[in-house]
Amino acid sequence: MNMPMPDADSPRILPQHLDDLLGEAARIRDTHWGRTVTYSRKVFVPLTNMCRDTCGYCTFVKDPGSPQANIMTPDQVLASARRGEAEGCKELLFSLGEKPELRHEAARAGLARLGYTRMTAYLRDMCALVLNETSLLPHVNAGTLTDAELEELRPVAASMGMMLETVSRRLMRKGGPHHACPDKVPLQRLRTLDRAGLRRVPFTTGLLIGIGETWAERLEALHAIDAAHRRHGHIQEVIIQNFQRKPDIAMANHPEPSLEDMLRTIAAARIILSPDISLQAPPNLSARHIAYLGAGINDWGGISPVTIDFINPQHEWPEIRTLAASCAEAGFELRERLTVYPRFMQGGDFISPPVLARVSALAGAEGLARDQRHIGEVQ
Ligand code: SF4
Repeated sequence: MNMPMPDADSPRILPQHLDDLLGEAARIRDTHWGRTVTYSRKVFVPLTNMCRDTCGYCTFVKDPGSPQANIMTPDQVLASARRGEAEGCKELLFSLGEKPELRHEAARAGLARLGYTRMTAYLRDMCALVLNETSLLPHVNAGTLTDAELEELRPVAASMGMMLETVSRRLMRKGGPHHACPDKVPLQRLRTLDRAGLRRVPFTTGLLIGIGETWAERLEALHAIDAAHRRHGHIQEVIIQNFQRKPDIAMANHPEPSLEDMLRTIAAARIILSPDISLQAPPNLSARHIAYLGAGINDWGGISPVTIDFINPQHEWPEIRTLAASCAEAGFELRERLTVYPRFMQGGDFISPPVLARVSALAGAEGLARDQRHIGEVQ
């Protein structure tokens, strides 16, 4: 039995039986991405762990009164970048809480000590520092952004990202994971997706599943992402991330999505989204991540040989050589990509000239990383 999916431009049918759903998704992946699965070798830089939001599943954020709350200094950013370079990373991912200075005096004071009043201005200068002083490509995960902020960051960031997470407004009600989180208003996040497209920014987004959204809301979110991509052509990848229970979060007793739920969502994403959008699921949030290959993914996202996953610190990255061996066993070749996908390098105006020069220096003929470091490590 098939369920018709609403889509004004090209209605897509989602097979209901799991095997059929996975088979269709894998067929689309094989046609458009082949049997190559990619990852980005990157160093993660949590520029600040303060945030004006208070999502019920977040372990990244620290209370501004806590001794662990901080803003990294330029020296600390450079030290992390150097460690990444030494381990063959090509990307430096800035992750940070959203606009903490609008809510917390500690954030305003920390920025003032560094000579800034706005986190985005500091982030811009840290991206420029990385571009000028290292061989790495900055990628920015700064959440919702205004037109002016996107303009500010675009010349110094190779790509940017913001998880849409969900389009459910219900989750903002009292008791919900997004209660009192101004940056989690779905309309604000959808606006950021569109603004990034209008400004020709290669953009990463995705869903966080299992936080209380319905299946229909998940599909609605995927259709919304695809619609933004059809308007602007800028969505380079979509991440399907599973909620993880942790002891120290408000949602400590909330059930995690099952593997089947994850596989169904990944496969639905592969069928709904334009085939040129890379589909990614993180390999460190399920011991059974190799099963994701059977649901249509073609990318594992960022893996760091240097830093922990600051968003899910209790889950270690897989060792890259081990992941390469597991992929080979499943019939896939693991290849290292850059933060920007190849199609954005082929002309057009998606990458600013100084960043494009760096991208071109790091890319091989196919647009993936010229230096496939893990292959050298395996030999
Ligand atoms: S998930 Fe992101 S937006 Fe929400 S509290 Fe954590 S850092 Fe802030």
